[in-house]
Amino acid sequence: MQPFELKTPASLEDAIKELPSERSYTAPQPIAGGQDILTVMKDDIEAPASLVEIGHLLSSEISEEPGGLTLGAGATIQDIADHEGVRSGFTALAEAAASVASPQIRSQGTLGGNLNQRPRCPYYRHSAVSCFKRGGNVCLAEFGFNKYAAILGGGPSYFSHPSDLATALMALGASVVIVGPEGERTVPIADYYVGPEEALDRETVLEAYEVVTKITVPRPASGARTTYYKFKERDSYDFALGAAAISLRVEAGTIAEARVVLGGVAPRPWHSPETEAALVGKPMNAETWKSAGEAAVADAVPLDMNGYKVHLVKGILHRALESLA
Ligand SMILES: Cc1cc2nc3c(=O)[nH]c(=O)nc-3n(C[C@H](O)[C@H](O)[C@H](O)COP(=O)(O)OP(=O)(O)OC[C@H]3O[C@@H](n4cnc5c(N)ncnc54)[C@H](O)[C@@H]3O)c2cc1C
Repeated sequence: MQPFELKTPASLEDAIKELPSERSYTAPQPIAGGQDILTVMKDDIEAPASLVEIGHLLSSEISEEPGGLTLGAGATIQDIADHEGVRSGFTALAEAAASVASPQIRSQGTLGGNLNQRPRCPYYRHSAVSCFKRGGNVCLAEFGFNKYAAILGGGPSYFSHPSDLATALMALGASVVIVGPEGERTVPIADYYVGPEEALDRETVLEAYEVVTKITVPRPASGARTTYYKFKERDSYDFALGAAAISLRVEAGTIAEARVVLGGVAPRPWHSPETEAALVGKPMNAETWKSAGEAAVADAVPLDMNGYKVHLVKGILHRALESLA
């Protein structure tokens, strides 16, 4: 790990002034809980000359209004998992938060940091490797060890997106509030993540000189139920091998509205209109859940070692939908 300077600005405005105009290997970066950025630096993916402390400047408040929820980007993942209003009204988000890592990481990691964490692909995280995402000209996961890689939306790089919160927030129709030198802008989380076909040096539309300050989540429609179902390899703590965040409204036994986002299977949280189309207008029964699973993976392109994810997605959707029933 390279030496770096830790800057502790007195205001968010001062923090933004410390951030660079463009990304680069040595460009300054924000640090909140430090659970990812320090690992990124230890793995020599990036070596920022300075880290700009923002954790103490961000709101950690979680507030409920009739129209929805506002979460400060400084809220810890544990705060979100424990919040009564989130658990009752935005269940998918609370379940996603509770599924993240270990209690220590959930208590230190922030919402803003979780949404902006970098991919976990073992090649990307290996200091001796030069892959597409580290300025090289190959994705070693495509033909190498690809057990954890993407089956949907992959190419030219095949990493899978790591954030459980992002997947749940996308199913809930959340928006990301961003502050930069020019002021504030709001981006629907559905447009926040960019895939490797669009950019290889980043995973979001966030500019190097911007920070996420809060997330807003509209209240699910009356009668809607939401859930997050995650499958992980190690039961104690782990990233998703596959996950599904679902928001569903059923009227008189028929599915009236559905929003489905898959996690752990694509380079970004994977919104699946095909799965939604297989659900809406159908009865809430096992046959429908089976068709939904098949629709979800119809376009999947598994690599040598991750064909199991095709079956996993079907199973996850079945269980998630069954639990909502
Ligand atoms: C062993 C382990 C297991 C894990 N398991 C899971 C898991 O199962 N599911 C899961 O979702 N995550 C998992 N994680 C990831 C973990 O949740 C994140 O590392 C953590 O949430 C990052 O939050 P932080 O506040 O510590 O971020 P930091 O490390 O401080 O920052 C992470 C990145 O986000 C940027 N950043 C931070 N805050 C902001 C902001 N407000 N605006 C803009 N950019 C910002 C930083 O510049 C940096 O690039 C795991 C991590 C570990 C180490």
